[in-house]
Amino acid sequence: MAFDTLLIGTNNAHKLEEIQAMLADLTVRVIGLREAGIDHEVDETGTTFEENARLKADTYAQMSGLPTLADDSGLEVAALNGAPGVYTARWALPDLDNPHRSYARVLAELKGRPFHDRIARFVCVIALARPGHETVTVEGVLPGVIAEEPRGSGGFGYDPVFYLLDYDQHLAELAPEEKNRISHRGQAIARAREVISHWT
Ligand code: IMP
Repeated sequence: MAFDTLLIGTNNAHKLEEIQAMLADLTVRVIGLREAGIDHEVDETGTTFEENARLKADTYAQMSGLPTLADDSGLEVAALNGAPGVYTARWALPDLDNPHRSYARVLAELKGRPFHDRIARFVCVIALARPGHETVTVEGVLPGVIAEEPRGSGGFGYDPVFYLLDYDQHLAELAPEEKNRISHRGQAIARAREVISHWT
């Protein structure tokens, strides 16, 4: 690998932690925005995960001059026409003191709805930007079901209400390594790793 530092273009500390853990074996330094001295939040004006991931990766790569990995991710519920989708991070109830605010709205919207209306998926698109090169994107998807009640204390965001049929457990009940192995972000990172391994 002909580069020694990879910048992760996110201000979400949970995402940064997950991505750094997943890339811990790389021989390059994997740093966050703060470590790169960047105090900036990209406006997510895109209408798709891919557009937003590209926007973040391209902006932070340009600001830092470093190869940059940025993800855009979210939850899609088919019975809600794919909502919250790219608006997942902004789809909270206005009660900012409620620690469960990230998933309270989806539980409210699906209250009393049958199992088949609760089918959902997490999507993660990762964009890899390098100054002087075309930006590349890869994707990962994790299917599940929105539960009626939260369970578990791991992960972040919607993890407590995301039920995994194969495991009969909520995503927040899995050990971090297990979540990272199967998650939308874990799958996208595995594909990103493949791309990075060919960088010269
Ligand atoms: P982004 O920063 O615009 O990509 O927002 C993604 C939002 O989707 C996060 O703030 C979370 O609410 C949700 N999200 C993404 N990935 C996960 C995950 O792995 N677990 C739970 N929630 C997630």
